[in-house]
Amino acid sequence: ITPWLAAVLVGNNPASEIYVKNKTKKFEALGLKTDLFRLNEDISEQELLSLIDKLNSDAEFHGILVQLPLPKHIDSEKVLNAIVPTKDVDGFHPENAGLLSIGKPRFIPCTPKGMMFILKHFNVDLNGKHVVVIGRSNIVGRPISILASLKELGNATVTLCHSGTKDLKYHSKQADVLVAALGSPEFVDASYIKEGACILDVGINRIERDGKSKIVGDVNQESVMGVASSLTPVPKGVGPMTIACLLRNTTISCKNRLIN
Ligand code: NAD
Repeated sequence: ITPWLAAVLVGNNPASEIYVKNKTKKFEALGLKTDLFRLNEDISEQELLSLIDKLNSDAEFHGILVQLPLPKHIDSEKVLNAIVPTKDVDGFHPENAGLLSIGKPRFIPCTPKGMMFILKHFNVDLNGKHVVVIGRSNIVGRPISILASLKELGNATVTLCHSGTKDLKYHSKQADVLVAALGSPEFVDASYIKEGACILDVGINRIERDGKSKIVGDVNQESVMGVASSLTPVPKGVGPMTIACLLRNTTISCKNRLIN
């Protein structure tokens, strides 16, 4: 039995195309299976929900991924909530978000899960540390703040900053571990961090520089160099770990099916 993911891509968003391609390529490279369901930009919400329904009841698939963003005429929340929680390998369904928040995760969203693996791999112990997260999205900022605060996982003291935060620098400068997940190119420079801080840069931003298109994170690498003790690079860093965790969640889903 091979873990098998159904990936749904709606429309022709170039960034989404790249994300889905990278994900399915990695599945194939490791001998796991993916089927890509490509749908036209103008598909109706009802048609998309019918496909999700079919994938939910198709025993072949252990995981379902709907690549975001969806076209404006489709209610993303409604679509994500339609995925049966036991196949929700992105961990976005309210049931899975709820399980995570009470410390009993089924599927941990892939990006924050990947960050926890990075910290573990490099022996960054969060216990008793102050973690400051910039960004409160349901897919990155909020779940990493929960993971870091859970007694069994991080046991850190956590501050969650967002667009309504007053004096962001005051908070970010307290961080032993700073998570930059605000989606603003090279926003965090040395003036935002304390000496010796460990920084996780989640941002993926495409910018034009010197007439060339370039991917940069939410952290200004040059500026924090020599002030931070460590920094995840962009590109690479958190991005590939997100894909690794999608593979892992799909494998967990497959194993769960065998056990149950
Ligand atoms: P989002 O737009 O949903 O959320 C951004 C958050 O940042 C919001 O909560 C907002 O309140 C906060 N914010 C924005 N500007 C701010 C400011 N000036 N000060 C304080 N808070 C501010 O974004 P997202 O989906 O969480 O993604 C964040 C970034 O991470 C993006 O660059 C995205 O491309 C990237 N991303 C990377 C991966 C990966 O695998 N590496 C995965 C998902 C997202």
